[in-house]
Amino acid sequence: MHLNDSIETIERLLKEDSQASLTYAALECRLAIERICYERLRVVHDYIAPEDLKKWQPHHVIRVLIDQVDPSVTKSFTLSISKDPLPDGSTTTTLEEFKSIDYIPVGTQTGFDPKKIGGLWHALSREALHLSLPSNSGDTIRQYGDSDQIRAKVLETLQEIRRIHKGSLISSGLGGEVSFQCFCGVRNKRKASLLKDGQTVSCISPNCSESYTYTEDDSSFGRRSLLIVCRKCEYKVDIPRGLVEKLRTDQRIYFDCDCGETISIEWRPMQGQRTRMNPAHNNPD
Ligand SMILES: [Zn+2]
Ligand SMILES: [Zn+2]
Repeated sequence: MHLNDSIETIERLLKEDSQASLTYAALECRLAIERICYERLRVVHDYIAPEDLKKWQPHHVIRVLIDQVDPSVTKSFTLSISKDPLPDGSTTTTLEEFKSIDYIPVGTQTGFDPKKIGGLWHALSREALHLSLPSNSGDTIRQYGDSDQIRAKVLETLQEIRRIHKGSLISSGLGGEVSFQCFCGVRNKRKASLLKDGQTVSCISPNCSESYTYTEDDSSFGRRSLLIVCRKCEYKVDIPRGLVEKLRTDQRIYFDCDCGETISIEWRPMQGQRTRMNPAHNNPD
């Protein structure tokens, strides 16, 4: 992980030790945290669609990766491979047999606590990047936050960045995969052990609105679609549900039917009504 430039910049700004430089150091710390989290996302990006991330905040991204892509995304471990290929059909089962194999280390991933890193990311912003609201008309509005508190948070974050920087590898995780071909033609893959029954999985292609519902029983991915029927020629077409779910209340999508009609889809409020058992105005006094 290339965090050298971030670390050097933060160290230089700390040395300057002015109110302005400490504020910039806090900003650099936040950007470094985002780099760390988004780099883990980049490595596993084939296993998760941007739509399924929902939020962009670094620790939320990491939480989704842990739940849906790889529980070891924030764990420390060293990956090693056997020096010689194992003979075909080899079934190495005993601990002694495993220990007798010659291994070459591939690299070490440095783990981190997503809660801790999320806490630092919030604290840096609270101390350095926002001013306090005045509590009365006599309050003075300061130009910067409190230098001592900012410095303390920057130092704490820098220590964590240096520690994570030592890792030489970011793994995309081990374990069995399942895959399916999207309607758009793109092949999607997911870690089998992390899929939950009924979970919505979006296509990883950035240009695609398709999503699927996973069914555990038969490990199938069912296309989430909405049937549209042309009222003139009765032509039927299934459109991706995701397209409609993304619509704002004042927004429409249009489809041109070959018969010359244009069909539009929009959200509409709908009135519901039912009769209650004991209506109040049927009982005078
Ligand atoms: Zn697709
Ligand atoms: Zn038509």
